[in-house]
Amino acid sequence: MFDNLSVKLERAFKTLKGQGSITEVNVATTVKEIRKALIDADVNYKVAKEVTDTIRQKALGQQVLVSVSPGQLLTKIVDEELTSLMGGEKVDIDIKGDPAVILISGLQGSGKTTFSGKLANMLKKQNRQVLLTACDVYRPAAIEQLKVLGEQIDVEVYAETDHRDPLKIAKNALAHAKAHNKKIVIVDTAGRLAVDEEMMQEITLLKEHLNPSETLFVVDSMTGQDAVNTAKTFNERLNFDGVVLTKLDGDTRGGAALSIKTVVNKPIKFISTGEKMEAIDIFHPDRMARRILGMGDVVSLVEKAQQTFDEEEAKRLNKKIRKNQFNFNDFLSQLEQIKKMGNIKDLVGMLPGMNKALKGIDIDDDSFRPIEAIIKSMTVKERENPDLINGSRRKRIANGSGTSIQQVNNLLKQFGDMRKLMKTMNKMGGGKRGLANLN
Ligand code: GDP
Repeated sequence: MFDNLSVKLERAFKTLKGQGSITEVNVATTVKEIRKALIDADVNYKVAKEVTDTIRQKALGQQVLVSVSPGQLLTKIVDEELTSLMGGEKVDIDIKGDPAVILISGLQGSGKTTFSGKLANMLKKQNRQVLLTACDVYRPAAIEQLKVLGEQIDVEVYAETDHRDPLKIAKNALAHAKAHNKKIVIVDTAGRLAVDEEMMQEITLLKEHLNPSETLFVVDSMTGQDAVNTAKTFNERLNFDGVVLTKLDGDTRGGAALSIKTVVNKPIKFISTGEKMEAIDIFHPDRMARRILGMGDVVSLVEKAQQTFDEEEAKRLNKKIRKNQFNFNDFLSQLEQIKKMGNIKDLVGMLPGMNKALKGIDIDDDSFRPIEAIIKSMTVKERENPDLINGSRRKRIANGSGTSIQQVNNLLKQFGDMRKLMKTMNKMGGGKRGLANLN
């Protein structure tokens, strides 16, 4: 996400390298590059112009500062402006009422149903009682899809299939929620391929009668400026409370994320970066700006790890590490947990400097497949005690896992190195501090 913009902004800052101070001339050159980078990222032209005008004014206004380099100063200003462009502060959703209603709107295929499941999953993890409601009555597959998601995340789904009156279904769902002690009702609604009057009437009717404390508009970020225009049209009719940007994992430009707040004047509240139920994040404009500038987003990474990782499992692993008993079974269990955290490339991209390093490199869940295959081809004894794995066993494991002896050797070596490192850290007394924090 935002790969190209990050690279181009870095190039823009490079034009200031070696320059002792900010001047009209060097700022003009850099700002021109920044504007070009934003427009290439599909940011609305007017927005790009406004932002870069502000950046220029701020940079020239701070001419007196001599202790920071012009490059650092510009980076700081761009960081502030990108943050403000995306809304400044994060804005939480409003959950009020008994039950509280969250209405989900958007075009067909934007990711409404998937997002409804993700939001339910997120709220459930906060120990809230959630009911999902299937009001996409025109696509029978949509009801089925929500039911499957509900089962997956263990959240009840309310649906009626004998008629096509979404308002009636939603009202019955609210009554069902009250009767069954559900505190939040998420209403997934029908979309169309493009904005049409019938859909608008239906969704506005639902909003009027259900009195939701939060109405979210879901939009596919890959559609760039179209996403911004659709948001504008929906907002004019629906006056929604917040935007959910989906498919950011496939969006290398980021124009929608950067323009929507300014054009529509509604905050982005969530972003979605994959098809898995865990691939959802609360949107923090400041963290996103830092990611765009290649400064990483370690805070989000740690939060994600805390949400996904099983605490008991982490404690168990820590104990094994301290006793120097970490084996291939534990390694496999860690891989499983990392995979649950969502899109791998996106996760690694949260580390400072990694976005650029990963540009053009394809890493996904499949990258783990040979490793998993190799471990799964080991016997229980071998996994527990990798020292047993001699030449002939390596050959057997390579055959069994469909990999090469070289791949098996590599994994064994990496695992050996990792164990050595753990041993050293334990000796230094860092096992508790250092590795405990990683798990
Ligand atoms: P709806 O018609 O608005 O309910 O859209 P769906 O929830 O059915 O999503 C349409 C398609 O987009 C499905 O194949 C989803 O798996 C996929 N999808 C949804 N969100 C994301 C996302 O954040 N990233 C990716 N890559 N795919 C997504």
